Amino acid sequence: MLRQALRRSRDALLDLLFPPRCAGCRRLGALLCPDCLQALAPVGEAICVRCGVATTARCTCITCKSDPPDPLRGMRGVVFYGGVAAAAIQALKYEGKKQLAAPLGDLLVAYLDAHPLPFDCVTPAPLHANRLAERGFNQAELLARRLSEVKGLPLRTDLVFRQRHTSQQVHLNRQERRANMIDAFAPQPGAALSGERVLLIDDVCTSGATLRACGQALAAAGAGEIWALCVARAHPPIPLEPWQQGLTPAQLFMTVSGDA
Ligand SMILES: [Zn+2]
Ligand SMILES: [Zn+2]
Repeated sequence: MLRQALRRSRDALLDLLFPPRCAGCRRLGALLCPDCLQALAPVGEAICVRCGVATTARCTCITCKSDPPDPLRGMRGVVFYGGVAAAAIQALKYEGKKQLAAPLGDLLVAYLDAHPLPFDCVTPAPLHANRLAERGFNQAELLARRLSEVKGLPLRTDLVFRQRHTSQQVHLNRQERRANMIDAFAPQPGAALSGERVLLIDDVCTSGATLRACGQALAAAGAGEIWALCVARAHPPIPLEPWQQGLTPAQLFMTVSGDA
């Protein structure tokens, strides 16, 4: 905790003394340089219109035909997770580079300018109180704040909260992620929407289980149409075959990343 605080103070001092360094290529000059912004991989138009997963054509994917992401009207991601996007999001979350919320939030703004979604207010996916205390800030809230300021629409952080600290989802499949998220979120006491359209913001989305669970709490709080938008869309983990189970973690990592 002390080490983190010291590192944050040191970083703040360095930022004062030196110009920012690009989160992607580490060059001096910008938080995300033009070359690295150019290197981001947009998710594009060939997506499932409900869950936003990349497909070969604009459609409703097989999963959403039987299990649509209700109550979310839809989920969208701006770029694929990886490379510069992963470096920037990790620097924001884990290195406390809060200034990155501006260029990353502007990706959300640019996406909405090109692909308008209906909303009356913006709300971030909340962190559990323990995680918030540990990190000191909610990266989704910083992104949502940037968006709300640029778009001139209210930021609501008083709608839902994370009532259960969920275990890591990285190695869970789709069904397990859903089960892991049941009742993870709840409406905040006193949160009373009367059908306002809400845009739910997060940094990364994988299966969408977190956003969907958060959407359920928003619906319980009285939200009308709910859309979810995240900066980066990660590919869900590849299910492991039984023969892979005996491998060491390092070998498993190589196998999974080699296939991805
Ligand atoms: Zn760069
Ligand atoms: Zn879908």
